[in-house]
Amino acid sequence: MSSTKKRYGGVEAGGTKFVLVVGNAEDGIETRHSLPTTSPEETLAGVVAFFKAQEPISALGIASFGPLVLDPRRTDYGGFGKTPKAGWSGAGLVGPLKSALNVPVGLDTDVNGAGLAEAVYGAGRDEEVVVYITVGTGLGGGLIVRGEPVHGLTHPEMGHVRLPLHPRDADFAGVCPFHGTCLEGLVSGPAISARLGTPLSNAASTDPIWEQIGYYLGGFCAILTLVASPGKIILGGGVMENTALFAPTRAALAKALNGYVGHPRLTGDLSDYVVPPKLGSNAGAIGALILADRALHA
Ligand code: ZN
Repeated sequence: MSSTKKRYGGVEAGGTKFVLVVGNAEDGIETRHSLPTTSPEETLAGVVAFFKAQEPISALGIASFGPLVLDPRRTDYGGFGKTPKAGWSGAGLVGPLKSALNVPVGLDTDVNGAGLAEAVYGAGRDEEVVVYITVGTGLGGGLIVRGEPVHGLTHPEMGHVRLPLHPRDADFAGVCPFHGTCLEGLVSGPAISARLGTPLSNAASTDPIWEQIGYYLGGFCAILTLVASPGKIILGGGVMENTALFAPTRAALAKALNGYVGHPRLTGDLSDYVVPPKLGSNAGAIGALILADRALHA
């Protein structure tokens, strides 16, 4: 690939901090720095100052929190849509950074960035279709087809689908401010804490919450399997660091499919199908470096 030995800048833009890296996706990260997320003006000035000091870089890639405007035909392309993050609604990313650094700039969501990295270099390597899900303070998902994150009108918002309620949730209102008991409203970290009064990591191994959360995640994996036929479903994020969740999730998936989809990977314990990420906390930064490479070669 033409990216070898090129030096790129990568930005993993989060609501609390911006992680800045220099390197390339194949050879690795050579430098890393992080900035607190304050106002757009102050934060982007910090980004520019960091990369100016790192010159030369050939292109910049950004994997950012959203919602983002990713359709290049739109006049507001390359920045934020309406976000609850104070001061950031409508803020630009691609435009200001491109003109300050004078290099091509690529942009995608943080979830798509991490999913892209996992699809190309991580747990989804060699698969045509990969779904990457992150379960943390929210639930986000990226569908990566032949190495390209799928966009569309905007970008997928997988966390907000609805599944049949688990019997133990009959009286649970859910925590999504838009939908109550959508998937995110049922399985995100705050949704789990709302039921337990404590994070999942503090739950006893015998607590029924494990089966309850696995029920939804497995049900969602069944929908993904039926809709997109991925080669792997990668489950990451803070909630999935509780690796004991994988077993009830896979069991619920098997139960939901009930043998309908005939493929060897969908038999047995499904441990080669529903998998944890491989790139760990580097996935977002590596995804940003892939986006930089693609921006250069666009
Ligand atoms: Zn929702």
